[in-house]
Amino acid sequence: MPNFRATQSLCPVCLERIPAGNVIYDDRVYLEKKCHRHGDFRALVWEGPPAFSGWQRSKIPTHPRYPGHAREKGCPFDCGLCPQHRQRSCTIILEVTDRCNLNCPICYADAQGRAHDPSLETIDRWFAAATRTGPGSNIQLSGGEPTLRNDLPQIVDMGRRAGFDFIQVNTNGLRLAEDEAFVRELKNAGLASVFLQFDGTADAIYRKLRGRPLLAAKKAAIDRCARHGIGVVLVPTLVPGVNDHDIGNLLRLAVKRTPVVRALHFQPMSYFGRFPHPPEDTDRITLPRLMRAIEAQSDGAFKAVDFKPPGCENSLCSFSANYLVLPGGHVRAIAGEGKCCSPPIPALEGARSAIDYVARQWRAPGKNVTEVSPATIPLNADPKGAIDLDAFIQRARTHRLSVSAMAFQDVWNLDLERVRDCCIHIMAPDTRLVPFCLYNLTSRSGKRLYRV
Ligand SMILES: [Zn+2]
Repeated sequence: MPNFRATQSLCPVCLERIPAGNVIYDDRVYLEKKCHRHGDFRALVWEGPPAFSGWQRSKIPTHPRYPGHAREKGCPFDCGLCPQHRQRSCTIILEVTDRCNLNCPICYADAQGRAHDPSLETIDRWFAAATRTGPGSNIQLSGGEPTLRNDLPQIVDMGRRAGFDFIQVNTNGLRLAEDEAFVRELKNAGLASVFLQFDGTADAIYRKLRGRPLLAAKKAAIDRCARHGIGVVLVPTLVPGVNDHDIGNLLRLAVKRTPVVRALHFQPMSYFGRFPHPPEDTDRITLPRLMRAIEAQSDGAFKAVDFKPPGCENSLCSFSANYLVLPGGHVRAIAGEGKCCSPPIPALEGARSAIDYVARQWRAPGKNVTEVSPATIPLNADPKGAIDLDAFIQRARTHRLSVSAMAFQDVWNLDLERVRDCCIHIMAPDTRLVPFCLYNLTSRSGKRLYRV
């Protein structure tokens, strides 16, 4: 009898809640489930070291102070959040437009089209709601492609006035690359960070995933952010066989572009939308596989053992590590700052620590990052090799790189125990907060659970 961890999931066909479990076979772990009408399903969720059992961290839950929905049908049908939820928001995502200037084959938001953007009054109500249900959260403005709104700087300003200190825009970077005045306006409005879709270091990857060569535009977007003191998080969507060979190049590019690049945040492909056949094991890049690929493709510069489970969301959802980037591009792992305490971690403490860490690490250091470039900090300026301590300390403040990953869940591998620990929440148009994975979840035929 293999090891078993009980949970619940949804049937990929009828979206009914069904019993499920993580079943451990040696070094592979599957989510297995059965629908009485539609049969058995299984999805690979973990493979190889670090061991599944040793990775998990128990938490002391925190429940919503202002639930957005009563408990009626039970998780995951009462999101709002409901009283069963076990973690507060650490990031609240506001979708400020459905329009997009790309037509990506892999878009989870399925952004094709409602022509009408939510009004500024509506978005102001969203911020007001967020100050009540998720006070102090980090805010991500998303879409669609949020930079298509000319009033995006006003939205950033509204968020700052509502009291949110860290506001980030999730973008493909095309407008940032072209429109310097717009980037300046965003900075002046108080934008801290750009969550830049950045799938690889070769145009062949963009052609495949986004339908167009985009590398030059992405690099121009990074340059503009550097010039205006906006931190950049590079976010590759990893798809097996398309860009999982490019992980080492992405790491090298991120290192080279510190300090404007603050983080490299991998998102293994999830299967939202219409997928008539269950994804195969080979369609999945599990977190442990990714940790090992990072080590292998960086020739051991970044090590799998550097990575730690999160203190905020469920352990099975992410990993992260922090590095000091030394002259010449060498990296040294440094103690995580987003982590608190030893298990069981009070969920609220984990959330506070993660909010604070992201707000500091994902924004640009100092006033103007272009003042500090590797070439201007000769760590070994003294010919005898003595370390210039002032330069070292200055560098340690700025040249930090976070490397992390988040594994989203789709209808095939959905684990409701994990969902209840979720801290990345999308605000629905009626101001209810819904975990990211549930908001985007679809059945096999594309039927949506939440997104309208
Ligand atoms: Zn079913």
